[in-house]
Amino acid sequence: MLRLLERFYGKPKPPKSILPTLASRADPYEMILYANCGYPATDKVCTKGFEALKKQVGLRPDDILGASDQKLAEVFQGTGMVPELRGQRIREIAARVKHEFGGDLRLALSGPLAEARKALKKFPTIADPGADKILLFTRTAPVAAVPSNCVEVTVRIFRGEPYKNYGQNYRAAQDILQEGLPENCDSRIRAYLLLKHHGQEICKRSAPLCDQCPVTRYCRYFRLQRPA
Ligand code: SF4
Repeated sequence: MLRLLERFYGKPKPPKSILPTLASRADPYEMILYANCGYPATDKVCTKGFEALKKQVGLRPDDILGASDQKLAEVFQGTGMVPELRGQRIREIAARVKHEFGGDLRLALSGPLAEARKALKKFPTIADPGADKILLFTRTAPVAAVPSNCVEVTVRIFRGEPYKNYGQNYRAAQDILQEGLPENCDSRIRAYLLLKHHGQEICKRSAPLCDQCPVTRYCRYFRLQRPA
């Protein structure tokens, strides 16, 4: 099924700002900054905000802590709603990494997985889906992360009708990926990116475009929707 998606969409492309190539190891601190650089947090606005922050302020905690509130809000103009609030969050992230994690968040991820997850969830906007993604993309552990904005895709394909509740869909999708994918970061990053792309382009949350889909033959939702 993933091979068909790859043939249809091409090789998955991670956001270059945080993962220059598929084989790279992302930096957890930069991933948290990136997630807070745009709102709603699409790759387009997060990339724009992240690159503006890098160019105009710098990414090191000291760079960010040395910038004024006004400057941070200014950097995030044109990257979605509440730029001032995002400026404050970026400052909070920088301060926490500097004072609580000794300037290097990677060290905090080197211990037991539960502790690493707990450390990540201390940061603004990082809940379980964000923590799973960071653990996977930093290659800390081959976590079966699910793209948070399209948790229905995997559930539709393998189960049929999605649940009404976000958390149930997330857990069901995670169980499916956990069971169906080899336990290594390469295959799970690839699956993450392909499913995310499929959710954005065709298997949309409110109305999947099944008549354009390349994986109908594998999709239980599609089979259940068709007249006998
Ligand atoms: S057939 Fe429809 S529901 Fe199934 S994966 Fe494709 S778009 Fe999604």
